[in-house]
Amino acid sequence: MVIDMKEIIALDVGGSTVKCAHFTTEGILKDKWLVTSSKTGAGMQIFSDIAKSLKKRNIDLENIKGIGIGVPGPVLDTTVYEAVNLGWGTLDVKEALVKALGQEVPVYVENDANIAAYGEYFTIKDADSLALLTLGTGIGDGIILNGKIYRGVNGSAGEIGHMKMAGADGLLCNCGLKGCLETFASATGVTRHTKKFIEAGMNSSLNPAHINAKMVFDAAKAGDAVALKVVDQAAYYLAHAIANMNVILDLDNVLIGGGLSEAGLFLIDKIKAYYQDVAFKPLRGLDIKKASLGNDAGIYGAFRVVQHA
Ligand SMILES: [Zn+2]
Repeated sequence: MVIDMKEIIALDVGGSTVKCAHFTTEGILKDKWLVTSSKTGAGMQIFSDIAKSLKKRNIDLENIKGIGIGVPGPVLDTTVYEAVNLGWGTLDVKEALVKALGQEVPVYVENDANIAAYGEYFTIKDADSLALLTLGTGIGDGIILNGKIYRGVNGSAGEIGHMKMAGADGLLCNCGLKGCLETFASATGVTRHTKKFIEAGMNSSLNPAHINAKMVFDAAKAGDAVALKVVDQAAYYLAHAIANMNVILDLDNVLIGGGLSEAGLFLIDKIKAYYQDVAFKPLRGLDIKKASLGNDAGIYGAFRVVQHA
């Protein structure tokens, strides 16, 4: 019997930090660290900083089965498109990482939302399909079908944050269009709507000049009418988006992650209640629950991508 003793490096590149992890092939987490996402040299500095951090930990690249890396942008093969926040634009991530490492190592590149969904997928026993909605500054969505990441032909499958929920009367989204889901149900959307309602004259305990999404959720839990309206609205549109997605995909699991999921059952119970009102009847058995890996979903997913390569 051949025993595979090689190990796996998992990387999850975000706008401010790169989460890095060193796993055994069986999935034992040996070490975890952060590297700052430097914008120096059109963002190329990130790769040499990652390489340095591996060297500092005496990780022998000859003993590595592969490196899995999640990146914020649509991915096809090993290239990410429009990762503008990192200064990369369009970049062959594998080529850039191998160059910085100074030696050939198998590198697997995936979109960050997809890789997080893949990490969560393995936490659910006998799961067939799954979507992970990450409610943060924006809304990410990774989709796993029959145990595999579903990328779509443009690497943009699961861009549920830009699903249309309202028309010309909706708030303007970062994508340049109006009324996208994330203008209602991301952290940014929640604070924008709270300000909008207060400025329109509704009474609230919140000061619109100093609010964030957590404050809105805390105020909603304490019974503030504006905050409750905003949270309720977020849940309402999330339920519609999930119902619309599921009428096409017929998934067996939908998980809610990201900063807003920290509001716990307060948000998720509202989503579930609206879902029961709006979902196609044969699909109402769908289990909507909180994701379990938190900020580590990406590194676990990056590990799994290499383990199952
Ligand atoms: Zn949009």
